[in-house]
Parts: sequence; structure tokens; C-alpha cells
Amino acid sequence: MAAQTMEQLVSLCKRRGFIFPGSAVYGGLQGTYDYGPLGVELKNNLKLAWWRANVWEREDMEGIDAAILMNKLTWRYSGHEETFVDPMVDCKNCKMRWRADQISGKCPNCASTELTEPRPFNLMFKTQIGPVPDPESFSYLRPETAQGIFVNFKHVLDSTSRKLPFGIAQIGKAFRNEITPRNFIFRVREFEQMEIEFFVRPGEDEAWHKKWVEDRINWWLSVGLSRENLEPYHQKPNELAHYAKATVDLLYRFPHGLEELEGIANRTDYDLGSHSKDQGSLGLKARVSPNSHSTDKLTYFDPETKQHVVPFVIEPSAGVDRGVLALLSEAYAEEQVKPAPVDRLKPVEEALGTFLKSVGRNEKLPAQAKEALLAEGERIAQSLGERLPSIAGLLSMPGAEGIEVAKKLRGQVDPVIDEFYRTVLHFKPHLAPIKVAVLPLKKNHPEIVSTAKSIRRKLQSTGAMRIVYDDTGAIGKLYRRQDEIGTPFCITVDFDTLGEGKDAALKNTVTVRHRDSMAQERVAISELEAYLREKMQ
Ligand code: ATP
Repeated sequence: MAAQTMEQLVSLCKRRGFIFPGSAVYGGLQGTYDYGPLGVELKNNLKLAWWRANVWEREDMEGIDAAILMNKLTWRYSGHEETFVDPMVDCKNCKMRWRADQISGKCPNCASTELTEPRPFNLMFKTQIGPVPDPESFSYLRPETAQGIFVNFKHVLDSTSRKLPFGIAQIGKAFRNEITPRNFIFRVREFEQMEIEFFVRPGEDEAWHKKWVEDRINWWLSVGLSRENLEPYHQKPNELAHYAKATVDLLYRFPHGLEELEGIANRTDYDLGSHSKDQGSLGLKARVSPNSHSTDKLTYFDPETKQHVVPFVIEPSAGVDRGVLALLSEAYAEEQVKPAPVDRLKPVEEALGTFLKSVGRNEKLPAQAKEALLAEGERIAQSLGERLPSIAGLLSMPGAEGIEVAKKLRGQVDPVIDEFYRTVLHFKPHLAPIKVAVLPLKKNHPEIVSTAKSIRRKLQSTGAMRIVYDDTGAIGKLYRRQDEIGTPFCITVDFDTLGEGKDAALKNTVTVRHRDSMAQERVAISELEAYLREKMQ
């Protein structure tokens, strides 16, 4: 299981309406993506699962939603103005700009080794505040949600009378002017974060850090990631951010490699200390810049010791978009429903061979597109029996549409995919964008249609799940379409439902078809809601 390549996911996401490239009608805007009808459901479900586990189901957490725009002094004292910089190099030949630590002395675009010396580049987007173009009236789009939590620490404390240890959770947009956005929604310029700042007594920080690492791994497992694809990485002392005492990155095996999904840092008393006035009186452990602007001391009065302390902070910080990518990748599978006979595979094999030859010979194709098409095409050809559905993805890759014989290949492959294969997203039911598809066996049979629609309306009225009605094809095809978007249950209304089948006892029952096992069972219409709610748990 799991996706083998990013192309498989990009293609499915675009084709079925999960994720689209941003501003496409104007040629796009690098590093931005738009979530479509299914993507927004998936993303909302992921955020809700996080909120549920970290706010609703805990006794030691509050939530907030702070403004994206903050007083620019926030970013001075948080350290972002000075330190939120990546060393960057420009290619003297093609003028592209790269992060120095991500290339090995060679331009990934044109392979030139003529690069400038690395220079710091601030990743924050600067933006004008107010109508007058005064050089002082600016701020930044927040590059992380965390600072909105720190500056509200006192507000939350005073309004809720919380005692240590407790946390504040927030989900929201963050913006970084990444030098080289890439790998689909993995590294983008506008993204969402799910962050917790968990405040503890100094001295209890190491135990809480350890606990949070375990909690966060368990949560990612609960949304469906598998343990073998998750790897905690303990940062080495020379890799730690200036504010961190210890950081554990949770790495995930994405299609493009093992990379960070979430970071869990012990930030000590750096943040609350940095945003406080009278820092000298606070007994801070962290080294902070003197703050001459803050109007408050971000401290906690400990009723046990009768002393004011600056709590230490444990920060589990996860990317929503990287989470969505991990879910898609983990859930993705191409499965053979029944073995395709050799005489059906042979013509596809030939058409694929012709297509790849044509790609190889094509002089108009940009080198990058050609290379990607050939690599993906050859990977498919090597184990055609198993990988055949990937041809749909291959044909939607950049450059494929301009290849003359692509149509012929599609004509050969589509019927074989329809008959012998399926692409499935094995999402956990609570994350699936659509929970139930109601399907009429016959779309021109008024009674079947009206029964199906009334089931749809009834389930919809519970407000508990997203339901769709679909009558745009034969039932087998409709099942495949729902498998491909991860719908866990299909409900089919047929002649038995109306009491017109062979078995009169099946009157007022429907077929419930399960996505993963493809098993079918009969369930009474009157019991459907309870049945689905139980399965959705
Ligand atoms: P990286 O090293 O990959 O740039 P980071 O260590 O700078 O990430 P953090 O500042 O720890 O990231 O941000 C917390 C989380 O926010 C990351 O684990 C990631 O999931 C998410 N995130 C950060 N930058 C981006 C981005 N450009 N696009 C998408 N998600 C991001």
C-alpha cells in the first residue's frame, strides 16, 4: 500500500477535486495550492480530529484563534526579524535562487556550478498596514501561529484561571516566502499549522517533552499513518534552533523521501521571557534580547510556592498540509480486483511502448517534463500487471497531452482499468471527505430514485456526515469512483428494496458496500443511521 510517487497523488488530487494548483488561469503562483471540494472536507476532518483529541478530550487545554497580522514588534522580540533567515545562493547562469543547504554546489535547474556566495534571506512576507505608504507602517504575515499564543498567554490565564501545567492550542494559516517551494503541498508559501504551546513548571519540562512526543506519534497513528512510515528524529545539539533545549522531529516517509511532518520542541522560557518587560527580575534560564516595548510580565503566580515563575514551553507544531499529504500518501493504493488476462495486457504494453518512444523522440518537450514522463513510464512498464492504473496519472503529467499517441494509449488502457483494477484511498472513516454515497441501481426507475433520494435526505439531515447521491453510471463504475476518493460506504437501492425482488423479506433494506473489503450486506433502511454512526466511530 501507500503511494509510490508524487505524480500518482498530484494526478488523483487534480482529477477528482482534492487539490488544484493556485491561480491556474493566470499561469499559476508558485508555492500556492487551492483545496477543492474533496480537499476541503479532508483537511477540515484532519483539523477537527486534531482539535477533538487535543482540546475537547483533554482537561488541560484551551483553544484560541489569534490574528494573522500582529504588531511588528512581535517579530522583533520573537527573534524572527533577525534569525528567520535561510542562507541562499543565486545561479549566475539561469538566475534561479536556491537554499544553500538543499543543493550540493550545483544548480538543480541548469546544472551550473557558477553560484553566488550564500546570503541570508528573510522568509517573512512584509505587508503595508493602513492607507498611507509610511515606511514605518508595516508588519509581516505571520510565519508561524505560535507567537499569537505567547502574546495571549496572560489573557488566557486570567480569563480561565488555569493552573500549570496547561496548554493553548491553535490552528491557522502561516506564510513563508520559501525560496524553493516544491514537492506539491509539502513546501508551500501559504500553509496551515496546528500548534500547541504547553506550559509547564521549569524542571518538569523534560518529562513533558517526552510525553508529548509519544502522544503525538500515537495521534498520527490514530488518523491512519503506519508506524513504519513515521520516524522520530532527535535533533543534534548543533541542529537546534537558538531557543530550543531539545527538539524531536517526527519524520514521515513521503513519496519524495523521509521528511519532517511535525516538530516537538522544548522552547524553555525563551518565548514568554522574550515578550516580557522587566526581564532582569524574572530569573530567566533562556538568553533573550532586552525588551523595551512590552507592557507586561508574562509570568504565572504559583499558588503552591507563592512565587511568580516564567513557565517552560513544550511546542508540538504540525503542518496541516503536510498532514493531508501524509494521509493521502498512506491511504493510496492501486489494487487488482481480478487478474487481467495476458491478451488484454498485451495491447496496453505495446501502446505504452509506442508512447514512451514518442516522448523520447519529441524535441518540443522541456527536458524536465521528458525525463519525468520517461522515468514514470518505465517504472510502470517494468511491472505493468500491478501498476497499470498509474497510466492514468502518467497521461495527466505535464507534457503528456502534447504527445500524439497519448489518446491511443488512453483508449487501450481505460477499459482494462475499469474491468480489472481500482484505485482506492483507504482513509479512516472519520477522515474520509464523503462518508456515504447513495446510489440507485437504475437511474430511470422513479421509485428506486425517490427511495434513494429520500435516504440521502434523511442521512443528510442528521448533520453528522457528508453524503452524496450519484446516478451517473453503472453501479460497478460508481463503486470505483467512490473507492478512488475514499468513501467508506456505498448504499445501493435496488428492486429488493422496493419488495420487487426474489426475496420479499428484503423489502425496505438496502445494500451497504464496504470500500476496503468490497463486501456487501443488507441493512434495513430504518437502521441505517445507527449502523453508519457505529461504523464511523
Ligand atoms: P522545514 O525544515 O521543513 O522548512 P521547519 O523546521 O522550518 O520546516 P517549523 O518551523 O518547525 O518547520 O514548522 C512547524 C511545521 O510547519 C513543520 O513541521 C511543517 O509541518 C509545517 N511547515 C513549515 N514550513 C512549511 C511550508 N513551507 N509548507 C508547508 N508546511 C510547512
